[in-house]
Amino acid sequence: MKKHIPMLDLKAEMADIGDELKEAMAVVLESTQFINGTVVKVLEEEMCNYLGVKHVVTCGNGTDALMIALMAAGLKPGDEVITTPFTFFATAEVISFLGLKVKFADIDEDSFNISPASANAQISDRSRAIMPVHLFGQAADMRALKEIADEHNLLLIEDSAQSTGGKLQMGGKTYHTGTISDVAGTSFFPSKNLACYGDGGAIFTDNDTIAETARMIKNHGSRVKYENEMIGVNSRLDSIQAAILRVKLQKLDEFNASRRRVAENYTEALQGMAEIAVPKVLQEAYHVYHQYTIKVKDGNRDELQAYLKEQGISSVVYYKKPLHLQEAFRKMGLKKGTFPNVEKVADQVLSLPIHPYLPEGDQSYIIESIKRYFQAN
Ligand SMILES: *Cc1c(COP(=O)(O)O)cnc(C)c1O
Repeated sequence: MKKHIPMLDLKAEMADIGDELKEAMAVVLESTQFINGTVVKVLEEEMCNYLGVKHVVTCGNGTDALMIALMAAGLKPGDEVITTPFTFFATAEVISFLGLKVKFADIDEDSFNISPASANAQISDRSRAIMPVHLFGQAADMRALKEIADEHNLLLIEDSAQSTGGKLQMGGKTYHTGTISDVAGTSFFPSKNLACYGDGGAIFTDNDTIAETARMIKNHGSRVKYENEMIGVNSRLDSIQAAILRVKLQKLDEFNASRRRVAENYTEALQGMAEIAVPKVLQEAYHVYHQYTIKVKDGNRDELQAYLKEQGISSVVYYKKPLHLQEAFRKMGLKKGTFPNVEKVADQVLSLPIHPYLPEGDQSYIIESIKRYFQAN
């Protein structure tokens, strides 16, 4: 039979922990507290403990989390926010949506994360914040970014959507990604490292004022029912999703450890090959491999992807078209050539299947298929 290896296998997850999940969902069904149930509060407390952060404010999805984080941090129309164009669209979308000004910077081509030097070069008198993304599950260079932010009195806002459970060592301490800045947003979209079975997101912060404002914003600008102090939105994590997340939070470290074992296996087998580059891991980072992303040199990426598809192996190009070249940002007038590292890696990257249930046999099959492609070409 022809193999079919998907990027992600939620059926395998259901087969493993489906009973626990159904039990947790049944409790919510019987409670009939579908919105603002106590389970949402309990999840927020458990996440605070897990992350070592003072406040977790859940909301409807990761895009809202980033938007509410920017609003709660007090950014105003015209303020400039420096971020990476090598990310999912939502990161920069919310900046523009709020009437703030997106300022893109180039990336480090080894880590795929925003280059602190390039971010520094984008600073102007209107700069108010830097928004790094911990792309593919590896922390951005927060030490360098924090230095720059402190020197120029800028806020640091993390897009932690791809790195829940990821960590970074800084100044002799280990921090969870999403807790190394003024405020962070994450997503619980079904494919993320910590995921529910629908939409969900959360804001993390140690700052009491930001947390209180975020809570108000996500609830129509209201603290007390029918008293609206400001213009907000309606963005809630529902109780069924919270119940699912409570079960999966208990297993997050184990899931991430499994992802790291798959990554180790890939890296060990592929690192000697001249035609590709395996992911480069920062010494201080605990990479949680939301994606395992190789770089294919010599322009063979699309051919390799087509070959893998013939073998029944899924793979995805995250991200083919950098944000500064997207139609939606055309008004910025940034031409091809503006960010050489971003544009170079966009032509080289290929993400391979990685998840906690990827059988060893499938890992070997993927590795052998990649080797076979380069032996023949
Ligand atoms: C998934 C993702 C988001 C958006 O999350 P949603 O829950 O889909 O709204 C934002 N930024 C990054 C980097 C993401 O990967």
